[in-house]
Amino acid sequence: MADIRLEGVGHSYDGGRTWALKPMTWTWQSSRAYALLGPSGCGKTTLLNIISGLITPTTGRIWFGDREVTGVPTAGRNIAQVFQFPVLYEEMSVYDNLAFPLRNRKFPKKEVDQRVRQVSQLLGLDQVLRRRSRRLDPGRQQIVSLGRGLVRPQVAAVLLDEPLTVVDPALKWTLRSKLKEIHRDTGHTLIYVTHDQTEALTFADEVVVLNDGAIVQTGPPAELFLSPTHEFVGHFIGSPGMNMVPGEIVGDVVRVGTADVGAAPDGLPAGPVRIGVRPEFVRIAGPDASPGAAATVTGIDRMGAYDLVHTRVGEHPVIVKTEAGSACEPDAVVCLHFPADRTFLFRDEVRCGSL
Ligand code: ATP
Repeated sequence: MADIRLEGVGHSYDGGRTWALKPMTWTWQSSRAYALLGPSGCGKTTLLNIISGLITPTTGRIWFGDREVTGVPTAGRNIAQVFQFPVLYEEMSVYDNLAFPLRNRKFPKKEVDQRVRQVSQLLGLDQVLRRRSRRLDPGRQQIVSLGRGLVRPQVAAVLLDEPLTVVDPALKWTLRSKLKEIHRDTGHTLIYVTHDQTEALTFADEVVVLNDGAIVQTGPPAELFLSPTHEFVGHFIGSPGMNMVPGEIVGDVVRVGTADVGAAPDGLPAGPVRIGVRPEFVRIAGPDASPGAAATVTGIDRMGAYDLVHTRVGEHPVIVKTEAGSACEPDAVVCLHFPADRTFLFRDEVRCGSL
């Protein structure tokens, strides 16, 4: 197994008028589990199809280790793929479906049996191995498709395009953790496409966030949550996403309206900034706490496990996630404290400092 390297890879479907994928340089390291996360239409499937060879990129080159594969079709790339919907031989048994990718490549019978049993056990398919695939419900069929993608050892990568869409929500949690277990066992390079942040964060060693055809940030799940470098990542990851409050650097302080909310970072020129802080980290203090910004409580969602306190600082909404049973009431005036190590400043959507 080898790294997959993209060098200036980009794709346009309309002869260069618009770019579904803007030229990018990026390496998928061998044996890591990646989530490729982004909203609908941001270019995830295009990128996946370029790696698998279904699309030849308009520009750039692709390398699997030392081997350039830019013009090589899918069949010559040793890639396994799992799609959104089941792709199975319906008349074959579950066992034969799982064995197919191995038999097709002339694996010895004993190894075929060993791999099929191992994967089927991990995915909870061992009781249905003799059953015809068409007799399974669509969710189970998709689990068999997942097994087919994972059964081959030594593939260059396993590409999974929203593989759990048709699976029952309750089962998704179990399957994601099974996928991780299989990954620990096989050491495949996995690239898992999703627009669902929970799927990405629970599954991946490293998340690649794509927006508008470009990679905006990559990193382990906790890093993206705790330390977004781009406003988009702040909004897109987290539930609810990061609060963004317009503010200003005046002298050596950061202001929201007339309130000082913290010290300005050294060297950042005066002028407008956007202050980003996650609902989890804003603290509600008494009305005169300093530094802090006065806010009015506009509503409370009591979610059971926690409360979401909706406030307004001037015209700007700020949500605070508190323990369940918050004493706040609508119309109360409070002071919001933005902790220095968890509050970031953005200009032109890019992080330029912290409080
Ligand atoms: P989704 O999650 O909705 O599948 P995505 O992130 O996978 O979206 P892509 O399917 O890669 O995004 O699409 C990226 C952009 O390219 C979109 O604007 C889409 O409309 C456009 N596009 C995708 N396939 C084609 C095609 N065959 N011809 C023309 N435009 C296309």
